[in-house]
Amino acid sequence: MLKALRARVHQGRRTISYPDDAPALPDRFRGLPRLDAERCGPDCARCIDACPTGALVKRDGRLGLDLGRCLFCTDCVEACPEGAIAYGGEYRMAARTREELVLDGPALPLVAALDAETRRLFGRSLKLRQVSAGGCNGCEADVNVLNTVVFDLGRLGIQFVASPRHADGLLITGPVTENMRLALRKTYDAVPGPKIVIAVGACAISGGPYVDHPEVHNGAHRVLPVDLYVPGCPPHPYTILHGLLGLLGRIDQRPGGPRT
Ligand code: SF4
Ligand code: SF4
Repeated sequence: MLKALRARVHQGRRTISYPDDAPALPDRFRGLPRLDAERCGPDCARCIDACPTGALVKRDGRLGLDLGRCLFCTDCVEACPEGAIAYGGEYRMAARTREELVLDGPALPLVAALDAETRRLFGRSLKLRQVSAGGCNGCEADVNVLNTVVFDLGRLGIQFVASPRHADGLLITGPVTENMRLALRKTYDAVPGPKIVIAVGACAISGGPYVDHPEVHNGAHRVLPVDLYVPGCPPHPYTILHGLLGLLGRIDQRPGGPRT
């Protein structure tokens, strides 16, 4: 017993201070990509050919990237001879609409909060039912990280619950396979209104690596109304957490800014 207590004291505090302090992300973290259109040759399509999910397109000679389809695999970076694509350290990538995730013009806006009435209901206490709708479990693993002592999601008033009847909304991972479509629909119907839906990961946004497979529905928005999209394959826990807090209006949108 004494040994266990000594070890616990030695461990000290493990819970991060986010969102009061900016996150410490590893050098290898792949965040929001930057497209440098000036470097891009007019007839070059090497990155487009290299992309496994069709996330890159050229319209009127201008390169666009759909973050909702991107796996952050960086095959496009390696394929580009001009260095026109680079992945940076920006982890704040969640969006309220599908259209915002298509990068070919203005910068991706920071996630906008829910309306005042919904924030009044969920802002201090949000219960979510997680539905795994056919993915690889990578996204589920990173969602689970939020429940560890490091992130301690409960300290922020956000918890996962077992029953949809006790939930305020759904957090969906996976591309929504045909096998999961009815179960997802029934789970949504069992959540009392008003309710919110959060799509986490490339699969839940667009089908991800399974896009256009005959047994998948290419994302949660094909089945349900979605309030928040969190891109990544899988998204980093900080990206998910920033999206959740932004949706609830619980975070100053500057890195490390105080909660509001
Ligand atoms: S990083 Fe994204 S855009 Fe680039 S090749 Fe991979 S999936 Fe396509
Ligand atoms: S988005 Fe990537 S990590 Fe998440 S379920 Fe799909 S394939 Fe797995």
